[in-house]
Amino acid sequence: MRIDLHTHSNVSDGTETPAELITAAAAAGLDVVALTDHDQTSGWDQARVTAQDLGIGFIPGMEITCQDSHGISVHLLSYLHDPSYQPLLDELAVSLNSRIVRAQRIVERLAEDYPISWELVTEHCQPGATVGRPHIADALVTAGVVAHRNEAFANILSSRSRYYVSHPAINPAAAVRLVREAGGVPVFAHPKAALRGRVVPESTVHEMIEAGLGGVEVYHRDNSAEGKEQLLALASEHDLIVTGSSDYHGTGKLNRLGENLTEPAMLERILAQGTGTSAQLQS
Ligand code: AMP
Ligand code: FE
Ligand code: FE
Ligand code: ZN
Repeated sequence: MRIDLHTHSNVSDGTETPAELITAAAAAGLDVVALTDHDQTSGWDQARVTAQDLGIGFIPGMEITCQDSHGISVHLLSYLHDPSYQPLLDELAVSLNSRIVRAQRIVERLAEDYPISWELVTEHCQPGATVGRPHIADALVTAGVVAHRNEAFANILSSRSRYYVSHPAINPAAAVRLVREAGGVPVFAHPKAALRGRVVPESTVHEMIEAGLGGVEVYHRDNSAEGKEQLLALASEHDLIVTGSSDYHGTGKLNRLGENLTEPAMLERILAQGTGTSAQLQS
């Protein structure tokens, strides 16, 4: 069983439609794939239909943007939650709306030095998609400022750049509680991704565990080797689910479908805990 539990479509910052992504997942030989777009679930229906057609298993998911009390960014994966649970939708709306204002402010700052406009960014983002720095990166590629997203993130779009602007987002422990209330299974995404910026202190992780965290994404290319060992020890100490995933973004990132996988026994635990919506598995 080849199980990949973290992918993005163009409903957020991936480059393929949900249908194209599921088709690519089947072609990559995956048996089960989760769609986990940032902060919204509008890709689920299309992904579900395509997965049914192609005979591949589908797990509905989402990756929630959070910020801890130290201002550090946290990504929380949610599987099988009820997509209509209003208290969670209210929190997601804060993030989705502030992302637009924030992206506009980054573009304003960049426009002082580079040939970029908000209009150019919107041409690189599907209407209604979760807007983020990757769409600004795509506009910078079109404008000839950088060669690809990765070059933009290494420099002018990095969180250390003088053009960077942050945006408000839900506290991670609060997000864990809301996901559980919505019948979902909360899994901390790439907790040890040190290259992207600061990683959260142990206190934040423990607040998330006390709030009901279900698992940790251990096998992800951005986690350091040492970080993976620490996460395995944490998972064993607190009986957490351990997952592995690609975090595929189409052509937007180097990450390839199936480059990291989740054990079937771990997927079983997610299925047993998730009650907010149903998975679609092939028999
Ligand atoms: P934002 O949500 O706007 O802060 O942008 C963060 C998003 O950018 C993450 O979801 C990543 O998928 C993406 N990202 C981060 N680093 C890179 C990179 N080096 N190349 C491409 N995409 C990246
Ligand atoms: Fe992303
Ligand atoms: Fe992430
Ligand atoms: Zn992701």
